[in-house]
Amino acid sequence: MNDAPRVTARPIAAGGPVAVRIEGPGATLGDLLRAWQPLCDDPGVYKQFAEPHFAPCRGCAVNCCRHAYVVPDIVSLRQLAAHLQLDLPRLARDYLLEDSLRAGIPRMRTSPCSFLVDGLCTVYPVRTLICRFYLCTPLEGFTEQLVYAITLAGMAATRRVLRGMGLIPPAAAQAGHGLSGFDLHLRRLLDACEGWAGVQSFLEAADYDDIPLAVFLRREVLELQ
Ligand code: SF4
Ligand code: SF4
Repeated sequence: MNDAPRVTARPIAAGGPVAVRIEGPGATLGDLLRAWQPLCDDPGVYKQFAEPHFAPCRGCAVNCCRHAYVVPDIVSLRQLAAHLQLDLPRLARDYLLEDSLRAGIPRMRTSPCSFLVDGLCTVYPVRTLICRFYLCTPLEGFTEQLVYAITLAGMAATRRVLRGMGLIPPAAAQAGHGLSGFDLHLRRLLDACEGWAGVQSFLEAADYDDIPLAVFLRREVLELQ
């Protein structure tokens, strides 16, 4: 049996941008996340906001969770609901920003994140894809496109589910005032990727291992951002 990883993620050179390589057929988002996680703990990976710059995330004084802009993907949202023993409407009411929901963006409460206690994430095993992927280090072009495409698809799937439950209004009724330029840009991207096969993969997945990376490798998907 071949135990070689189906995905690798490492800096191209010392201090250089991180590059993902898909090494085998059938690679899944779970494979990518397993390859990605060690980057956070690796003191050999450059991190812009860490002090010193070559350090693990643990112990970082800046701690991006304090002001993170987090829109959960549907896999993590469902796992979070199970972990907290809440149904989705209750989770949305308690942990998502009401104004953002009205505007069609299921964004978590922030500054700081509701799940940050004493500088540590209290829902670490079920944290969102944005939380898992965010790393203050440069990314190689393909890697950045891939990570953005996957994260967008997961967020769009969340929006589909919450809209189906009546927790997000249909597009024509979404609030438009008071949104930042970033909010508007993100909403446009989410609208544009609604029909992706990757969104459907998220909707059907119980876990990240159920989501094939192949659905994100099409040019129109990678180049949307
Ligand atoms: S990714 Fe976040 S926790 Fe890690 S070094 Fe950067 S700011 Fe700190
Ligand atoms: S869910 Fe956890 S990892 Fe994500 S922003 Fe909140 S505290 Fe940080």
